[in-house]
Amino acid sequence: MNPIFDFKIINEKHITDLVATALSNCNKHLQNIYSSVEKPTFEVSVAGLDTIFNEAEKALGLISLMAYTHPEESVRNASMAGIPELENFLNNLQLDANLFAAVRAFDQTGNKAELKPFQQKFLKETIDEFKRNGLALKPELQNKLKEIRNRLSEIGVEFEANIGNDAGFLMVSESEIEGLPADYKESHKQADGMYKIDLSYPSFRPFMKYSKSDSARKALMFKFMNRAAEKNLSLVDEMIRLRYDLAQLLGYKSYAEYTVENRMSKTPQTVWNFETELTQAVKSKAKADYAELLEAKRNYLTDFTIEKVEVWESAFYNNLLLETKYKVDNNQIKEYFETNSVIEGIFKICEKLFNVSCKQIETSVWHPDVKAYELYSDGTLKGVFYLDLYPRDNKFSHAASFTLIGGKKLSSGYQIPVNTLVCNFPAPTATKPSLLPHNEVETLFHEFGHLLHCLLTEAELRSQSGTNVAYDFVETPSQMFENWAWNYESLQLFAKHYQTGEIMPKELFDKMLAAKNVGSGMHVLQQILYGTLDMTLHDRYAEVKHLKVSEIVKDLQNKITPFEFMDGTHFEASFGHLFGYAAGYYGYLWALVYAEDVFSIFEKEGIFNIETGLRLKNTILAKGSSANEYDLAVEFL
Ligand SMILES: [Zn+2]
Repeated sequence: MNPIFDFKIINEKHITDLVATALSNCNKHLQNIYSSVEKPTFEVSVAGLDTIFNEAEKALGLISLMAYTHPEESVRNASMAGIPELENFLNNLQLDANLFAAVRAFDQTGNKAELKPFQQKFLKETIDEFKRNGLALKPELQNKLKEIRNRLSEIGVEFEANIGNDAGFLMVSESEIEGLPADYKESHKQADGMYKIDLSYPSFRPFMKYSKSDSARKALMFKFMNRAAEKNLSLVDEMIRLRYDLAQLLGYKSYAEYTVENRMSKTPQTVWNFETELTQAVKSKAKADYAELLEAKRNYLTDFTIEKVEVWESAFYNNLLLETKYKVDNNQIKEYFETNSVIEGIFKICEKLFNVSCKQIETSVWHPDVKAYELYSDGTLKGVFYLDLYPRDNKFSHAASFTLIGGKKLSSGYQIPVNTLVCNFPAPTATKPSLLPHNEVETLFHEFGHLLHCLLTEAELRSQSGTNVAYDFVETPSQMFENWAWNYESLQLFAKHYQTGEIMPKELFDKMLAAKNVGSGMHVLQQILYGTLDMTLHDRYAEVKHLKVSEIVKDLQNKITPFEFMDGTHFEASFGHLFGYAAGYYGYLWALVYAEDVFSIFEKEGIFNIETGLRLKNTILAKGSSANEYDLAVEFL
């Protein structure tokens, strides 16, 4: 019997019933919480919220997966329609004054001293979240806050739409497109024999990489860096100002202070220190990267007096290095990564590190490609997972881990977590198995890291289990696990030629590694630039508000990266992450640095050292956010 649902027979009605039942159960629990306000208890008034969250998330997890993977359109549509219903319900809880009153009533009883630390943490964070949403403010200020929030979400929609609607392009001639592959040329060719290069990534990126015309690349870069500038520059200004106002209203010095308060970093100063230290740490690698790029340019142009590489030249010379000095044959490499062998390899690694075993089970699934597995630790079932690996029509087109059921302690026992990895790997054919390019091997390890975080959880509350951790920590286990796809000792377990069974030769691996490191220091500096810009606008608004954002970008770029700012460009107008991350952009590198720190312990103690593995499992993976993530990381390190 399938532990979740009989996927084979699932239909539209099941989905609508599921959503309706979940909402009605949630509302019942909500009424219980409301009426507990006179005699509040932790179980009803506070943990009741976790029960609601669990109910809603169970339905949401299932329908989100079905919306993006089910072969039947009616099931996908019904699922898609259910998502906003459940999301709106959850969002409204955060603005529910009666709910806040009940939770606060418990907080004021004096009984909280008897709570366990994870319960105290949950209580405090729940109250903080209500306050962050303005529920502790006077009514007129709450209205003001609402106005700001509404305008900010309008700006967000407009900002994205303006980027999407930017119809800019560059017309180039036959000589300017030289270097691009034939199919690229074919798809950009116009009736008059010219080529129209639009500013979407699939057009822009290959052109910057391959076009031999320096002036055409420069012209295209200029247009690309000015996407949506006419409309979005004023929106950026308004957004930054409104966020500052919002933070002030809630009693914070800056929007960044408001954002990072509930993250692992806790204070903006920690983020600033992080950016500074990381800049120092990658400086010499970035310098060497730049020197290598400069050398490539000099050799290419046979002019050894050249002293500078321009921003519109970097992708071109970087690619030249990869095609000459660091050439690796990706077709040869993927012959060592037959998909099933890679999966078997991951299972072996999990066994060696965490003493868990995975076994395939026969059960009902939503498509014949999907396989189901159980994960055991010491003979006890710890989790269930599905792998849906190959592309098909109407399926989600990226790679992601979907939590169907999260861990939670129930009165009947521990709720077994269930996860699914949805990927789009090359499908096997009648004559050839599925072979993975190495970047896809890396993707599979990354997503499996999320899956392990979800399945190995032991946290008692759903809100603290699995991947429900601080935003700047959630990518740490996944990025950490990628390292086993980049370690020769690990690859020897499974990187075997699909025809001969030969283990990947060490020389081939060394070449892959060398290619991976090309330009890596400069890449980090570029990320630091984005993070620093994000922090400058969201943490130092009062100091920089008299400046134009473009002036700030120019100053930071010239200070941080080796590439000189291109005058007249306004990249901030199309930097969608400025809107989306809002003082959180640093989190990507932050999580990566922790991932590297964790892996460095394995490098020291042995990448298959089971004691280290179990320590990681018990201190980090099992805990979720039931304790402070920073403390957990420090404890492990
Ligand atoms: Zn991820």
